Amino acid sequence: MIAVVDVDDLHCEDQIVEHLLPRKEAVPGLVVTAYAIPNRLGPVHDLKGKYPWITFAQHGFEHTFCECLEWTADKARALLTRGRELGYAPLFKPPNWRFDNELLQAMSELDIALHHHRKASIVGWPGRRYWGERKGGTSHTNLHTHIEQNPATDFIATHADFSIESLLKFSEFQTPLDHLYVGGTNGEG
Ligand SMILES: [Zn+2]
Repeated sequence: MIAVVDVDDLHCEDQIVEHLLPRKEAVPGLVVTAYAIPNRLGPVHDLKGKYPWITFAQHGFEHTFCECLEWTADKARALLTRGRELGYAPLFKPPNWRFDNELLQAMSELDIALHHHRKASIVGWPGRRYWGERKGGTSHTNLHTHIEQNPATDFIATHADFSIESLLKFSEFQTPLDHLYVGGTNGEG
């Protein structure tokens, strides 16, 4: 069984040490995609060397509630480019899932993939995307939570899917980048 594991809202290395390292030590094959807030976490070149099993992906830039809706295509291009320079993978999840066509335009120009939970939201967009909703699908199980405690969301420390026992049930771990769809359709059902 393959799991694609992702956590949102990474903003400091202490969160890795507290929440991800103990799981990695108990589940040696674990790989995690961490959707991080670049203006808080900063460059990830050193972190990638230290934690090669973590994919550092971009989750907005400042993570204000609807920040991506306020971005023009030019601003989106500038912030996504900045994220790439800081070492983030070509993979983006908008905060609170809020995005518009200007962001999509910048992402397809820069060949950055979108992680979204609803297929219907981007029908017709030609860029690459990952569907986080395909939980329990035929190819893999998506496990998703948050690494920052917030009363409005679930949290890694208390999420049953993220217990060591539960993670040990999987034989292999992959990233959204291993499961991208491309083209104007929405891939498999
Ligand atoms: Zn978030």
